Amino acid sequence: MTGSTPISVVIAGGGTAGWMAAASFARFLGSGFSIALIESDAIGTVGVGEATIPQIRLFNDALGLDEDEFLRTTGGTFKLGIEFVDWVKPGTRYMHAFGDIGRDAGLLPFHQYWLRAMAEGKADGELVRYSLNNMAALAGRMQRGRPRTAKTLPDMPYAFHFDAALYAAHLRRYAEARGVERIEGRIAHVHRDAGSGDIATLTLDGGHEVSGDFFIDCTGFGGLLISKTLGVGFDDWSRWLPCDSAQAVASMRAADFTPYTRASAHQAGWQWRIPLQHRTGNGIVYSSAHLDDDAAASQLLANIEGEPQGDPRLIRFRTGKRQQAWSHNVIAMGLAAGFMEPLESTSIHMIQSAIARLLKLIPGRRVEPADRDEFNRQSDFEWERIRDFLILHYHANRREEPFWQAFRAMELPDTLASKIALWCGNGHITREHEELFTEVGWLQVLVGQGLMPRGHHPIADAISSSELAEYMSVIEQLIAREVAQMPDHAQFVSHHCDA
Ligand code: FAD
Repeated sequence: MTGSTPISVVIAGGGTAGWMAAASFARFLGSGFSIALIESDAIGTVGVGEATIPQIRLFNDALGLDEDEFLRTTGGTFKLGIEFVDWVKPGTRYMHAFGDIGRDAGLLPFHQYWLRAMAEGKADGELVRYSLNNMAALAGRMQRGRPRTAKTLPDMPYAFHFDAALYAAHLRRYAEARGVERIEGRIAHVHRDAGSGDIATLTLDGGHEVSGDFFIDCTGFGGLLISKTLGVGFDDWSRWLPCDSAQAVASMRAADFTPYTRASAHQAGWQWRIPLQHRTGNGIVYSSAHLDDDAAASQLLANIEGEPQGDPRLIRFRTGKRQQAWSHNVIAMGLAAGFMEPLESTSIHMIQSAIARLLKLIPGRRVEPADRDEFNRQSDFEWERIRDFLILHYHANRREEPFWQAFRAMELPDTLASKIALWCGNGHITREHEELFTEVGWLQVLVGQGLMPRGHHPIADAISSSELAEYMSVIEQLIAREVAQMPDHAQFVSHHCDA
């Protein structure tokens, strides 16, 4: 790069996606690149996206963010998993907790022994007792670092809930301090190179022009560059994920300061509850074909704790993804790349993984088609596997309402159908290399949604019944003892990272 002008990267949009990209590029791309970000205060951001998964810690660590300061600045809290209430049918609940369950013994995953123990009546039926995260979450406790019984129990992974606007502001300060140029204004025109069709220049209201070698489209649902300008098509997944509307409202901080997200199913979708330090985030997700907006707003407000802070805000969306996340010299990230359900808090993670993918494959000044194709192949794989995991929550239900009955009857993607079939035989779960959700994640949702296999792996029969009972009860006791020693979540937050 010495002696030549830097490769210029222009980020269009400054929501969570834009500022995550800007901060990472400022940290990793080095002096051979210049980075500018254009955002419009008048347009604003989508303003939701408060729950994450544990991989966010890798992102923050890579930037070198101090965790306590980050939590203080963003009103953040800890998240050990997601509780699903009423998903199988009203009155049921289970948790998808982060981290392992039990302890693997030799060749087999723990759950194979649990399946045998269940068949023999030696486990009480709940996986929860063998998950450190799940038991800590239900007890309202939190701990960082290795558990005291480190030799015998796995680590305790955690994620965060945070205020998305405060997180973007935190990343903005970080990025600007490292040389990112922020340009305020609305992009009014996009100019393409007549020969290559690549994007060349963005013109803002008032005539200011911004040229670049690469453009990162973080303009939200509209996809100003990837869709409106380049015309990249959209894979519509609403036949599998038909919710198309959400309403969000914050309420006063609740007494029940849970270290987990709650997702409660209702007649035509579900409602989230996300505790932050200064407020509780609430939102209802629904299919507008099954529930009208007024009824959804009333239902949301009827099911929150504490005073609402304003009126519910309506957001429309379409589930699916761009056919190519990278086209010409434009790479779409965040909502510009597509959107699925917020059900498993995966969108911010997909921004993070798109950034990591691009940092690995970023070309010089000229796009290598093979790099672009590999980026798109990896993106498609990630999106499709996450989609399958989300569909599973809806499909395996025993609810009576038409919305839920339609899910039971729907034709599944082949990839999901074969995963369910493999599980329902002898309890096998496979995970391909780049899949986001682990075997233990699938396990909890399969079991939680009421799908139990017909058999188990025959190697699990090799130990005696008394050894099996001892194995199960030791794990249960270790977890119970460990959780009893952990501090309360609210105290932990106020001690380490009170806003
Ligand atoms: P936006 O926030 O919409 O930002 C777009 C940016 O582009 C803004 O700065 C805007 O000003 C700018 N812009 C647009 N057009 C122009 C223009 N012409 N000129 C200049 N600037 C322009 N994700 C999670 O991980 N966890 C969750 O719990 C979660 N919950 C969600 C709940 C709902 C109901 C929805 C809809 C999404 C949720 N998400 C969640 C997704 C999450 O909100 C987004 O992934 C995240 O906020 C990133 O959004 P974004 O930056 O792509 O878009």
